[in-house]
Amino acid sequence: MTAVTLQEWVRRANSLVPRSDAFIGGAFTPAQSGERFPTSTPRDGTHLADLAACGEADVDRAVRSAHLAFEAGTWSQADPAHRKAVLLRFAELVLSNLEELALLESLDVGKPISDTLSVDVPGAARTLSWYAEAIDKTYDQIAPAPRSAVAMITREPLGVVGAVVPWNYPLLISSWKLAPALASGNSVVLKPAEDSSLSALLLAELGSQAGLPDGVLNVVPGSGPVAGAALGRHHLVAKLAFTGSPAVGRRFLAYAAESNAKQVSLELGGKSPQVVLGDAPNLDAVASSVAWGIYYNAGQTCNAGSLLVTEPGVRDELLHKVVSLTNGFVVGDPLNPATQMGPLASYPQRERVTGYLDLVGSEGGRLLTTRQAHVGPGAYVAPTLVDGVPAASRLAQEEVFGPVLVHLPAKNLDDAIKLANGTRYGLAASVWTRDVSVAHHTARRLRAGTVWVNTFDASDVITPFGGFGESGSGRDKSLHALDAYTALKTTWINLT
Ligand code: NDP
Repeated sequence: MTAVTLQEWVRRANSLVPRSDAFIGGAFTPAQSGERFPTSTPRDGTHLADLAACGEADVDRAVRSAHLAFEAGTWSQADPAHRKAVLLRFAELVLSNLEELALLESLDVGKPISDTLSVDVPGAARTLSWYAEAIDKTYDQIAPAPRSAVAMITREPLGVVGAVVPWNYPLLISSWKLAPALASGNSVVLKPAEDSSLSALLLAELGSQAGLPDGVLNVVPGSGPVAGAALGRHHLVAKLAFTGSPAVGRRFLAYAAESNAKQVSLELGGKSPQVVLGDAPNLDAVASSVAWGIYYNAGQTCNAGSLLVTEPGVRDELLHKVVSLTNGFVVGDPLNPATQMGPLASYPQRERVTGYLDLVGSEGGRLLTTRQAHVGPGAYVAPTLVDGVPAASRLAQEEVFGPVLVHLPAKNLDDAIKLANGTRYGLAASVWTRDVSVAHHTARRLRAGTVWVNTFDASDVITPFGGFGESGSGRDKSLHALDAYTALKTTWINLT
C-alpha cells in the first residue's frame, strides 16, 4: 500500500494534464485531420482528455517514419550494448515516473492504484530492463557446414512492427511487445485501445528521453477499424503483434493476407479453468487463489481463472469459502489505496458483463453471491459466483471479461479434464492436488499455454505466455518472444 492518500491522489488527478497528441517521428503531433476523440474515466465518467484521432494518413506517416529510422540504421544496426544502455535508461525513466504512470492507468481503466503502483508500472519497467539485459547476451550460431565453408545463422530484425493492444493492461501488454521488438533492433508503431491511450503516450516520450532515435517508437491513438486497420494493411509493416478479442485477431490475419503476407502473432484471451481435485491441500489457500484468480483486475485479464471445476470431495467446503471471500472483496474507488477491485474499464464493458449476468436464469443457473447494486457512478460490477449452468452454456463457454466465476461440478478426474478442456480457448489452467504424479499427468492433459500446479497466475517475464486453440498463436515474454521479432538469416561463405 502506498503512503499517498486518497485525497492526495484525487488532488493530483484533478490537476493532471495528460499528453493527448500522437507521437510520430520523435514529436507530439495532432492528427492531420485535426479530429479528436474524448476519453473519460470509468471511475465516475469524468472527461480526461481529447485525443488525436489518427486516421490512415497519420498511420502512414508513423509507419514511414519508423521505416526511415529502420533504414537509417541508427537503432537497427546499433551495437547490442548501445541498445541495452538505452533500454535500461528507458526502464529507469518508467520507474522514476511511477506515480504519474500509475495514476494515468488507474484513471484511464479503473485499476486500483495499489495494483498500478505495484504491478503494472514496475512490470513494464522490468520487461524493458529484462530484454535490455538479454540482448547483449544473445548469441548467433555457426552451422556444421563442410570444412570448405563457414555457414552462419544470424537473427535479423524484421523492420517496422505494428503493435495493437487492448485496454485491460495497457502499459504492461505494450511493454511485452515493445521491449523484445526494440531490443532486437526493430522500429515500432503502437496503437493503443481508444479507452486506454494515456500511459502509452507518456511511455513514448520517456523512450525518446532515454535515447531512442526519432521514429523508432511511435504511438498513434485512434479507433481500431480506422487506425488499427490502416496499420494492419500497411505494406511497410513487417510484423503485427496483437492482443485482444478473437474476432479482431482474425481481422489481423486477413489484413496480412490482403497486404504483404506480414507475420502476425495473436494473443486472444481465454476461459481458463481452475481445477480443484478431491485431495487438494489447504482449502483456505485454494479459495483465496481461486477468488483472486478471477477477481483481480475485475476479471479483465486474458488468463482470468473464470471457470472453477471441482471434484466432489472438496466441493461444498470450497464453494462456501469462495463465496465468503467474494462477498468480502473491497470494491470501490480505484484511487483509494485500500481498494481491491475497481470499476470495469469502461461503461460499455460493464453493459457487456451485466448482459452475461442477465443470462444466469435463462441458462439454468443461480448466483451464489449477492448481486449488489453499482457502487456510485463508476462502471462497477460486483464480484459474482455462478453455479448450475451447463458446460455448454454461453456463461461457461464465452470470455465474459468481468468479475464472474462460473462453477462446473466434475464427477471425477477424467470429467474434470474434459470440462477444463471443453472450450475453444487454451490460454491457461490450474490444478490443485497433493499427489505429485496426478499433478504431472493432469498438467500434461490440460490443453493450455500455461498450467499452474497448486497456484494460479504465478508469472514473470522469464516464461513464455500465449495459447493453444483460439487463444491465439505466438508467445509474449521470455527469450522465445525474440523469435517473434527476428528472422533467421543464413550466410554461407565459401573458403576455397
Ligand atoms: P478488441 O479486440 O476489439 O480490441 C483490441 C484492440 O484492437 C484495440 O486496440 C482496438 O482498438 C483494436 N481493434 C478493434 N477493432 C479493430 C479492427 N477492426 N481492426 C484493427 N484493430 C481493431 O477488444 P474489445 O475492446 O472490443 O473487447 C471485447 C472483448 O474482447 C472483451 O470483452 C474480451 O472478451 C476480449 N478481450 C480480450 C483481451 C485479451 O487480453 N486477450 C483484451 C481485450 C479484450 P479500439 O479499442 O481503439 O477500437
